[in-house]
Amino acid sequence: MKEAEQRIQAIYEGVKARNPGEVEFHQAVWEVISTLAPVLQRHPEYTEHKIIERLCEPERQIIFRVPWQDDKGEVQINRGFRVGFNSALGPYKGGLRFHPSVLLGTIKFLAFEQTFKNALTGLPIGSGKGGADFDPKGKSDNEIMRFCQSFMTELYRHIGDMTDVPAGDIGVGGREIGYLFGQYKRIVNRYEAGVLTGKNPSWSGALVRKESTGYGAVYFAEEMLKVRGQELAGKRCVVSGSGNVAIYATQKLQQLGAIVVACSDSNGVIYDEQGICLDTVRQIKEVERGRLKEYTNHRPNAEYRHGGDIWDIACDLAFPCATQNELNESHAKKLIANGCFAVTEGANMPCTPEAVDLFHEHGIAYAPGKAANAGGVATSALEMQQNASRDTWSFEYTENRLREIMVNIHKNCHRTAEEFGMPGNYVAGANIVSFRQVADAVMAFGVI
Ligand code: NDP
Repeated sequence: MKEAEQRIQAIYEGVKARNPGEVEFHQAVWEVISTLAPVLQRHPEYTEHKIIERLCEPERQIIFRVPWQDDKGEVQINRGFRVGFNSALGPYKGGLRFHPSVLLGTIKFLAFEQTFKNALTGLPIGSGKGGADFDPKGKSDNEIMRFCQSFMTELYRHIGDMTDVPAGDIGVGGREIGYLFGQYKRIVNRYEAGVLTGKNPSWSGALVRKESTGYGAVYFAEEMLKVRGQELAGKRCVVSGSGNVAIYATQKLQQLGAIVVACSDSNGVIYDEQGICLDTVRQIKEVERGRLKEYTNHRPNAEYRHGGDIWDIACDLAFPCATQNELNESHAKKLIANGCFAVTEGANMPCTPEAVDLFHEHGIAYAPGKAANAGGVATSALEMQQNASRDTWSFEYTENRLREIMVNIHKNCHRTAEEFGMPGNYVAGANIVSFRQVADAVMAFGVI
């Protein structure tokens, strides 16, 4: 085992040296490969074929200029990215993020995570991610449209339903997917529905895609609770964020009888002891595209904490659904002290490694994003299936498929963690299941 651990440490040092300054990418790589020593020990062929080294190097990375004009006629320049990380299991698949914090390292960390997440779904999809350092906040609809059109004017040549299939992520929802798809269709002169997912169901999108990441995370949490002889009904929950994932995680939690007492945006936190009124949040965020502080205008008994910390609020279950590294060691300590016993990641890598260590030490049920939020990309793959067969499925049928997929992911992660002597460790379970799957495909293709 020591030899495998040393080998992994050496690979990690190599990754850091080859990708200087990309700390989120380093973090994501370490989180996966640090759990793989027992696999290398059982499968010497993975070492011989340098599988880990190959999985840590993106197949391709595209960076491009995105010029556009704002409403005053001024020229603005942003930087666009698309990273195709691994195509062993299918075309590159993963969302686009529009946020001012986006750097190449951000996209690489997300695309790397996507490799293992997509494998966990059991569906034929490889991994990719993209985006731009564009800030959609405060932009008019016309500015968003012009930006999306300029972004797609370069991106279109790199994507295709058999090559690379983007979707949404932070800052990219149904409106942006509409503008992106419109421009793609116009440039290529084909109605290639399967080139993007997250489309509106009225024009080739899939029902449930919008809800799927949040719903899927709740289904995963439900399975973790079942293992402990518990259920969601009556549990007090906090859900960080108030975007796509947070909204639909909250909706499913409420449908299953849990009480969501808090949500947040990047400015502050809403605490509503009676339970968050989701219609109000959706009106503010999805319709008015406003700030969460407006919630108290509709619900005067609720509290708005400007700059507040959502993890201060006592809960049974926590759902970090906003962004990476939003829940650190001191947040984890507070959650544990306040009686939280399960943490389910709706976002990608929202908990720092120190927070995750604390959860494991204290026997908290902890679901890593690559397993718990895989329902989004799984439903994207179902959208691709519908597009390929020119079919549309009902909400109920699609939701059942999603639920089945999440139950399976949970089962595989749980069983594999036990098989490798780490019961209840969903991080190890998820990493080992997905790594083996991708590794076997990579080996089958030879050195390419
Ligand atoms: P949205 O843009 O719809 O919502 C993001 C939410 O997080 C907003 O409430 C936003 O607040 C908040 N937020 C974003 N950045 C920060 C920050 N730096 N600090 C504090 N709060 C922040 O994105 P999604 O809901 O789609 O994505 C949320 C997370 O889920 C991301 O990690 C994403 O990668 C992950 N994910 C998303 C999937 C999907 O299907 N959409 C699939 C799988 C994972 P504000 O409005 O103030 O910016």
